[in-house]
Amino acid sequence: MLQPPPEKPAAPARVGQAPQPLPALESGILVREEELGTVRAQRLYKMRCECGRSWFELELPTLVECPACRRLCLVSA
Ligand SMILES: [Zn+2]
Repeated sequence: MLQPPPEKPAAPARVGQAPQPLPALESGILVREEELGTVRAQRLYKMRCECGRSWFELELPTLVECPACRRLCLVSA
């Protein structure tokens, strides 16, 4: 834990107040307590065919058929 510099008096604790926008601190950091949600991350590979069509794949294929021009294409990353 970082201690505040000795020359700076500690800010008085805010107790029993409704959440309100705090004045900008010197550090520019606002600290609020919130419940954390969860986010699921998913990798997508963006494919782009020579014909100009682009789409996404969840897995990186070696060979893929372009949905537009129907050519079987070798995938290069
Ligand atoms: Zn194509």
